[in-house]
Amino acid sequence: MALYIFNTLSGSKEEFKPLEGNSVKMFVCGQTVYDDAHLGHAKTYIAFDIVARWIRHLGYKLKYIQNITDVEDKIIARAHERNMDPMDLAEYYETRFFEDMESIGVKQDVDMYPKSSEYIDTIRDQIQALADNGYAYYLGGDIYYDVSKFADYTKLSRMNIEELSNHRIEPKEGKRNSYDFALWKAAKPGEPKWDITISIDGKEVKLSGRPGWHIEDTAMTYALFGPQYDIHGGARELIFPHHTNEIAQAEAAYGVKPFVRYWMHSGMLNIRGQEMHKSLKNFVPIRDFVKEHGAEMLRFMVASTHYRKEINFTDSYMDLARRNLYYIYSSFNILYNMKASDSSGDADQYVESSAKNFLNEFSSAMNDDFNTPLALSKLLIFVKDLRSLASSGKSISKDAKQHAIDAVLECASIIGILAGDGYKKPLEEGIYKLIEEREILRKAGEFSEADAIRKRLLDEYGTVVEDTEYGPLWYRRT
Ligand SMILES: [Zn+2]
Repeated sequence: MALYIFNTLSGSKEEFKPLEGNSVKMFVCGQTVYDDAHLGHAKTYIAFDIVARWIRHLGYKLKYIQNITDVEDKIIARAHERNMDPMDLAEYYETRFFEDMESIGVKQDVDMYPKSSEYIDTIRDQIQALADNGYAYYLGGDIYYDVSKFADYTKLSRMNIEELSNHRIEPKEGKRNSYDFALWKAAKPGEPKWDITISIDGKEVKLSGRPGWHIEDTAMTYALFGPQYDIHGGARELIFPHHTNEIAQAEAAYGVKPFVRYWMHSGMLNIRGQEMHKSLKNFVPIRDFVKEHGAEMLRFMVASTHYRKEINFTDSYMDLARRNLYYIYSSFNILYNMKASDSSGDADQYVESSAKNFLNEFSSAMNDDFNTPLALSKLLIFVKDLRSLASSGKSISKDAKQHAIDAVLECASIIGILAGDGYKKPLEEGIYKLIEEREILRKAGEFSEADAIRKRLLDEYGTVVEDTEYGPLWYRRT
């Protein structure tokens, strides 16, 4: 089964073929460490984490790199506000970022987190290559990229020249084009700086400053992957100018086109229809969310929407995700604790063929540009089926049961759910009886009696019962 990826560069789904045999090289734009990571970041990093897990699941040898931007305007500004050294501030937030990534199961899948401050030599070399090839110019302590020299500048964003001209990127007197961007910036007093020498226009120029934002990515990937690699991912908002400028830098410096073969972009996350912003007081740090709702809930929510689409984070979106996640938990709990025999059972054939069928459906959803919402719906249907089977009284062999369990766990591990062993503990006999009684009363329209049982289940057994489109669903609160 082939993997298809939507490539922003071609604007279409393409069959994925790595550059070199079975090895895949993937780079995703990482964090600028000046504040805590929020739910918007979680969406991007979880989405690409699922991409990485799936690529590895297919048997590819994946090298996955994410950069840490530790030298940047926002870091310097925040450090000055707090009267701190910018590198200390970056280090503080970097530690917290890693804690967050670990808590949501992302860090383990990233092979390397290179930092911009560690690649200054490579950055210098790349600026030199751009100067040698006639794409860079010196302007008052800075080095700029002359965008008009690069013919295919808008191939990723598909913008026209008027749209480009509306973007006054990094305003500075004397720039050749309004959208020219800095490769190197002179340091102001109190800013972190490095001394480098560039020969440009036949002169040796000594510069004291720091790299522009776009060059760190292409310097790192050149050092770690070479002039061309397979996948570059990031949030959609990075297409212009960031990824556009990455292409301009790498292709002008090394002449290998396309610099990246598959450009993948993920949709944003809004909070109740608004972009997340500290000023709007709707900024939700990952650590707060995880503390309250758990990491699985966050991963499940992200996977419930296709990675290219936007998530509008509302109470009802969260509610639906919670119900579906608990449905999977409670159904899997029932399957896990179902009696099975050493000999063959009535339902074996059915279970074996539905497990096989489910694995195929899950795979084809994932192979179709990582369609996680479709894959999750297949998982929900599969566990629903197993749940009805468990209550049908049919017999099952240990082998068939194990195959069904393995199929669920294999797919759940791609999404990053059912990670703990919370599903292993069986519900007590008495609880099942009460749930059944309540369902009979509810169907007969005896709602106040049904509600009384629901209350008893919660008070006496700590078990929550909710009615869903799949029937009653229950889970333990603790
Ligand atoms: Zn980047």
